[in-house]
Amino acid sequence: MSHEAAMIVGGGQTGAYAAMSLREAGFGGRIVVIGEEAHAPYDRPPLSKAMLTQEPMPAPAPFHAPAKLDERGIELRLATRVVEIDRSAARLRLADGATVPYDRLLLATGGTARHLAVPGGERALTVRTLEDAMAIRARLGQGVRVVCVGAGVIGLEVAASARARGAEVTVLEAGAACMGRSLTPAFAQWLGALHEGAGVRLRFGVTVREITGEGVVCADGVVPADVVIVGIGITRNTELAVAAGLAVEGGIVVDEFCRTEDPAIFAAGDVAAFWHPFYGSRLRLEAWRHAMNHGIAAGRAMAGRREAYADLPWFWTDQHGVNLQVAGLPERAASSVLRGAMGGASFAVFHLDAEGCVVGATGVNAAREIRAAQALIGLRRPADAAALADPSRNLQGVVAAMRLG
Ligand code: ADP
Repeated sequence: MSHEAAMIVGGGQTGAYAAMSLREAGFGGRIVVIGEEAHAPYDRPPLSKAMLTQEPMPAPAPFHAPAKLDERGIELRLATRVVEIDRSAARLRLADGATVPYDRLLLATGGTARHLAVPGGERALTVRTLEDAMAIRARLGQGVRVVCVGAGVIGLEVAASARARGAEVTVLEAGAACMGRSLTPAFAQWLGALHEGAGVRLRFGVTVREITGEGVVCADGVVPADVVIVGIGITRNTELAVAAGLAVEGGIVVDEFCRTEDPAIFAAGDVAAFWHPFYGSRLRLEAWRHAMNHGIAAGRAMAGRREAYADLPWFWTDQHGVNLQVAGLPERAASSVLRGAMGGASFAVFHLDAEGCVVGATGVNAAREIRAAQALIGLRRPADAAALADPSRNLQGVVAAMRLG
């Protein structure tokens, strides 16, 4: 057993997977996950979906059973906030004044749901933690007037869940489209129609001025609300890194091995702005698989392995019983190819760059197509657009042919 100590700040998905992978990569020292939340690391996607709709409420799903953590000698220090990193002494200071030495440190501090910076903004609920989900769940019900601010993934998932509970739902979006950050206009329109068909009212180009006891005050009047939920993105929890003098550019700057410029300090997950060797640029991602795989990569890197992290972006969302997945970076596309019929039960769009290479894909109930798209993105070769568009052509065959070609 080594006498080294690895401290992981952040008890979310990234921190949990990093701890496990650090041990599995052969690190023999002490591993401690320090988390601000009172719960062992748990899966967050259900917070805006099953936890709001299912009866009875599903229990939170921890990533690792207590027995497994014990067996691997991973300690959880919950309901504990780190307030400072003293790099010169290689020590963390906790909110209660205690200090904890580290030999290797991972910052997996994630993000905090943004609040609306308007008068009464504090009246709105956000969705990030188990407590948040429980507070929203308790307010939903038949005929309750719910206003979601933000038509991103969170706002729209909550809108669908609230509708499933019989609420009267309005979504107010500052921009011009649903999930404007990641969907092409055609897909955004399709998604808007899905929500409207399910009885959700959508309003775009809205400026929220205030939240009062009556509802949400916009430029053209008040939208009455019993509950207001905002899903307007996160603020990355970079304060510790900034105060410690580490490079922060929108996120904590790390290389493809999750390393900051301090050889003892690593960062991963939502909070990291990481070098992506495939794209040759720095990315910041907030998605379930990234949180897990970046954590795993960080654990390995902390154990001294040199394996570059190059996972391609991918996320999914479930809204009104439909599964929507996005792979790669569709915003970098110059053209697109539709496979199946837009609006059908299952369809996908492959996004191609100017050279005809697949750079992204968006699919509705099309997990297989999205998996194939990820392989195509990785190949970075001009694709056979006609084959992609032809549902009778087997996509695995198309991928295999491109590999050989
Ligand atoms: P989340 O993960 O919280 O869903 P996203 O970034 O995916 O975050 O989506 C947030 C959405 O909220 C975006 O569509 C953005 O245009 C919208 N938005 C941001 N600020 C406001 C605001 N003040 N009022 C309404 N919508 C907003």
